[in-house]
Amino acid sequence: MRLVVFGAGYVGLVTGTGLSDLGHEVLVYDINQAKIASLECGRIPIFEPGLADLVHRGQRAGRLHFSTGIEEPFDQADAYFIAVGTPPREDGSADLSAVQAAASSIRSIARKPAFVVVKSTVPVGTCDVVQEILSCSGLEVVSNPEFLKEGDAVNDFFRPDRLVIGAKSDRAHAFMRELYAPLQLCGDRLVATDPRSSELIKYAANAMLATRISFMNELSRLCHAADADIHSVRLGIGSDSRIGNRFLYAGPGYGGSCFPKDVQALVATGRSLGVELEVTAAAHRANEKQGAFVADQLEEALGTIAGRTIAIWGCAFKPDTDDIREAPALKLTEALVARGATVVAHDPEAGANYARHFDDLTGVHLAGSDYDALDGAHALVLLTEWRCYRAPNFSEIRMRMDASGGAPLVFDARNIWKAADVTRAGLRYRGIGVRGADPAVDARVDVSDLELPEAV
Ligand code: NAD
Repeated sequence: MRLVVFGAGYVGLVTGTGLSDLGHEVLVYDINQAKIASLECGRIPIFEPGLADLVHRGQRAGRLHFSTGIEEPFDQADAYFIAVGTPPREDGSADLSAVQAAASSIRSIARKPAFVVVKSTVPVGTCDVVQEILSCSGLEVVSNPEFLKEGDAVNDFFRPDRLVIGAKSDRAHAFMRELYAPLQLCGDRLVATDPRSSELIKYAANAMLATRISFMNELSRLCHAADADIHSVRLGIGSDSRIGNRFLYAGPGYGGSCFPKDVQALVATGRSLGVELEVTAAAHRANEKQGAFVADQLEEALGTIAGRTIAIWGCAFKPDTDDIREAPALKLTEALVARGATVVAHDPEAGANYARHFDDLTGVHLAGSDYDALDGAHALVLLTEWRCYRAPNFSEIRMRMDASGGAPLVFDARNIWKAADVTRAGLRYRGIGVRGADPAVDARVDVSDLELPEAV
C-alpha cells in the first residue's frame, strides 16, 4: 500500500518507519524543515532504541521517504495518517489546530478516495470534526489511537498489546485489518469499534495508568507520615491478582508528553459534556502535590536549599528516551533554583534537551558525566531510573560530594537503591515513602522485582 504519515515526531516517525518495514511504501511528511532535512540524511532527530536501524533499512529499500511536500505518487495514497501533536491549551483541553491543519492539507492534496487515520490522541468527537473538514471528498476517517511507550516504541509497534480501530464502515475496518495483517493480531488484541469509543479508549487507558501512579504516590506520602514503608505496601497489595504488581511504583510524579496532558484533556472533555470526572481530576492534583513533596523533602533533609548545590541524575521523564516534556526534572529544577540552589544535572540522552530548556536560567548546569555532576554537591537526587544509574559506586559518590556539613544526602526518588548500600558508604538516604536504612525492610525488598522496567 502507499501511505503518507503527517508528523515526524515520536509517534509519526515510529509509525511510518514500522509501516515501511511491513512492506508498505511510506512518505513521512512534516512542516519542520530541519527535522526532515536531518531524516533525509539518515540522522534521527530523537533518541529511540532500535529506530535508526529501521529507518536506514527503509531508506535503503527505497520504501521510506521524508519530505516537507506531498507530490506524485503520494497524492494518490491509500491512506493518510495524522500523527501530529495535540498539546494542552491553557484550560487543559487539547489544542487540535495541528490535526485540523493536517486534515485540510489532506483534503486539498488527495487525488483519489482514501482513508484518513487519526493516530494523534484526540478528544471524543474529533473524528467527526475531521470528517467534516474532509467533506464529501471520498476520504473516510478512521480512529486508530497510538499506545506506544517511548523507549520501547519499536517493540510496541511490532508487538502491540492491542490495536484499536474505530470506524463507521465495514470497508474501513477491512482496510485497517489488511494494513496491519503482517502483525498477525487476533482475539482481544484487535479491538474493532466505532470512532468515538476508540477515541475514548486512549484517554481512558492513560487516565487509568495515571490514577494508579497517583494512588501509589499518595500512599507514599502517607507511609512517610505514618512511618510505614511503601515497598512493603506495594508487595502486599500487588500480590492480589485483581491489583497486580505492575505499574505500582511510587516516584516523583508522572511526566511525559502524554499522561499530564491527557488526564487534563479528559477532565476538560467531561466538563464540556457536563460530567465531572472527579477521580481523574484528583489523579492530576495528587501528581502536582508529589512534585512539591520531593522539593519539600529535600529542604527538610538539608535544612535549607538556599546556597546548596544539588545534583540531579536523570532529566528525561523516563529511561530510554531523550524526551523531557513535563519531566519531573524540569519542575524540580525550577523549584530548587527558585529557592536559591545551584543545580547540576546529568542524563545519558536527554542532557542536551534539558540544557536547551534552561538556556536562560542562571544556576543550572549540565555535567559531562554522572560522577562529574556530583563534585561539591550537597545532595544527589535520582529522578530517572536509567540502567546506568542502577548500581552506582556509592563510595565514589561520597568522595565527590561535599561532606563539610556532615554526610551528603542521596535522595532516591525512584526507590531503586537499597538504603543500607547508601548509608554504608557514609551517605544519608531518603526515598519516596521508604524508611531510611532499615535493614529489616531492605532484607524484604526483592531487588530483581524493583528492576522491572516501568515504561509509560
Ligand atoms: P511530537 O511533538 O514529537 O511530533 C509532532 C510532529 O508533528 C512534529 O514534528 C511537528 O512538526 C509535526 N506537525 C505539526 N503540525 C503538522 C502539520 N500540519 N503537518 C505535518 N506535520 C505537522 O508529538 P508526538 O509525541 O509524536 O505525539 C503525536 C500525537 O501522538 C499526540 O497527539 C500525542 O498525544 C500522541 N501520542 C504520543 C505518544 C508518545 O509517547 N509520544 C504516545 C501515544 C500517543
